[in-house]
Amino acid sequence: MIDESLSQAAAAVARACTILAKDQIQVGGVVSVVNPEKCAAGLTWVRVCPYNVPVINAEGVAEIEMAMCHGCGICGSECPGKAITRQHFTDEQIMAKEESGSRCTTCLRLWVHVLQKWRGR
Ligand code: SF4
Repeated sequence: MIDESLSQAAAAVARACTILAKDQIQVGGVVSVVNPEKCAAGLTWVRVCPYNVPVINAEGVAEIEMAMCHGCGICGSECPGKAITRQHFTDEQIMAKEESGSRCTTCLRLWVHVLQKWRGR
């Protein structure tokens, strides 16, 4: 039991080291970004992020670290000022897809992903 735990811990450290050793990391393009000119630092979205990514920076506006964001879009849906946008999934893009008659399953797939993360799967 202890040997197995130590092996798993060593594997986790090795995995973390491969990521931390890089000068740059590539992340998925579907992440949320903040428009600082619209941001009123309302804090609602800070509380709803399941990954605790958004913070208020030194300038007093929201900041989302792209490398940490999972792109679920929950923060953007909660922002009353529409200061947060998920890249490649703007309101205009979603409405255009809706008006084209094609069925969008992005939200369903993202919610399944978030639920799986919460459950640790
Ligand atoms: S998109 Fe999801 S993971 Fe990224 S900051 Fe918003 S709530 Fe957090």
